[in-house]
Amino acid sequence: MADTIYDVAIIGSGPAGYTAAIRAGQLGLSTALIEKDPYLGGTCLHVGCIPTKSLLFNAEVYDHVKDGDAMGLNNTAGVTPNWPTIQKRKQGIVDKHAKGLQFLMRKNKVAVIEGYGKLTGPAQGGIHTVDLEGKSGRSSIKAKNVILSTGSVARLLPGLKPDDRILTNIEVLSLNDIPKSLIVIGSGAVGVEFASIYKSFGADVTILEMLPRYVPVEDEEVSKELMRVYRKRGINGFVNAKVEKVERTKDGVVVTFTVDGKQQKIEADKVLIAVGRAPNTDNVGIEKTRIEVERGFVKTDEYMRTAEPGIYAIGDIAMGYPQLAHAGAMEGIVVVTHIAGRPVKPVNVLRIPNATYCHPEIGSVGLSEAKAKELGYDVKVGKFPFTANSRASIVGQHEGFVKIVTDAKHGEILGVHIIGPTATELIAESVVALEMECTAEDLAHIIHAHPTLSEAMLDAANAVFGMPINT
Ligand SMILES: Cc1cc2nc3c(=O)[nH]c(=O)nc-3n(C[C@H](O)[C@H](O)[C@H](O)COP(=O)(O)OP(=O)(O)OC[C@H]3O[C@@H](n4cnc5c(N)ncnc54)[C@H](O)[C@@H]3O)c2cc1C
Repeated sequence: MADTIYDVAIIGSGPAGYTAAIRAGQLGLSTALIEKDPYLGGTCLHVGCIPTKSLLFNAEVYDHVKDGDAMGLNNTAGVTPNWPTIQKRKQGIVDKHAKGLQFLMRKNKVAVIEGYGKLTGPAQGGIHTVDLEGKSGRSSIKAKNVILSTGSVARLLPGLKPDDRILTNIEVLSLNDIPKSLIVIGSGAVGVEFASIYKSFGADVTILEMLPRYVPVEDEEVSKELMRVYRKRGINGFVNAKVEKVERTKDGVVVTFTVDGKQQKIEADKVLIAVGRAPNTDNVGIEKTRIEVERGFVKTDEYMRTAEPGIYAIGDIAMGYPQLAHAGAMEGIVVVTHIAGRPVKPVNVLRIPNATYCHPEIGSVGLSEAKAKELGYDVKVGKFPFTANSRASIVGQHEGFVKIVTDAKHGEILGVHIIGPTATELIAESVVALEMECTAEDLAHIIHAHPTLSEAMLDAANAVFGMPINT
């Protein structure tokens, strides 16, 4: 290992790092993937995307079963969740895919190195040295290019430490029992997903959001619909809520917060802190380089190059890009394709879909209506509710809508916002439409199979011209 000079050394094996490693191998670059943990996959696979979606799927199945009478299924009233089995299933999925990643590294001749990686400074004669600290002591490796993909960790409120009652995304995934009550601080994707999961499993859930609406990165109408459905589901919530204190009580927690200057307290078994994620850039040797950092995020150009030649940054640490697995993965592909000297399109932030897997699901891409107006577009909107979609009746999920935001002048689709059944799948069509610079008219000519939820896209495109077929 000491004499090898890799084409690329990647620090961190989350979706950004492992995708970069696989593609680098496919492109014939000699590649090392450095990971401090004994398994590959990062936050996404172990304590993020995958385990949450496993629990959400179980919650959805349980919700359907609870609706058994209406579905014509007998004896469903007594069905209860078997939490240990649900946890075991979740872990089985994670383990299977972690193993799959090891296979993919072998297949693509990526050298996996277990250890904590640190930059040592600028390249010497075009070669970078990365220091390693692992189980077998200290060592280093050399590479022509280094990709930093060290990911992120949950932000906590000042003075708090996670434990069995004050939870981050890590602890809340592996609770011994379903809590009777849960307070969720923060209503971004992570907050509303866990609120959805534990409400379905029977917990009394309360969301505290500092801003005036849930999922504040989404279109305002999507937030409004989510808040309406959550209220209907019995998920309590406060917006404009400023949390002042989180304290442990004898058996649980008490959270003190103010809304419009009025102080209130609520008690629960547990509290989840879901107030965003801090980039992991503190202890990786950045200070020895010319890399520029702002609030912990690494500044890059469109090819994800940092200010230090030969060092790149991707994934949750990259400034100006959303902290999403699929964004990081594509950034990884851009970097290694660029390193291999092949043509590649940089990532366009406006074409990265958002996907939130709560019930009802949310999928969106591009500009919200408000943002498009703020940018000076003459906006024309087409909106179609799932109440009028026949497949939505079949699957018994009528909440939500598809909303298409277009530029009235040229008809170009600027953004699509979906809340409702399988919104996270339906959004893929819109990403293609934006990438192909489709107009609403183009979309209205695309034949969608019947009966499908995707027909709501067709109706929304027709609604831009005031002519939806089904409303
Ligand atoms: C609860 C939850 C649910 C989520 N759900 C989704 C979702 O559904 N869809 C989605 O797109 N995104 C989701 N995300 C976000 C997603 O998990 C992240 O955007 C993604 O994991 C970022 O990938 P990454 O490769 O940048 O970093 P990470 O996945 O955080 O991986 C970084 C890796 O680097 C390693 N590392 C760090 N420092 C070093 C070092 N110095 N040396 C060696 N190794 C190091 C870490 O151990 C880790 O393995 C979710 C996040 C959470 C918390």
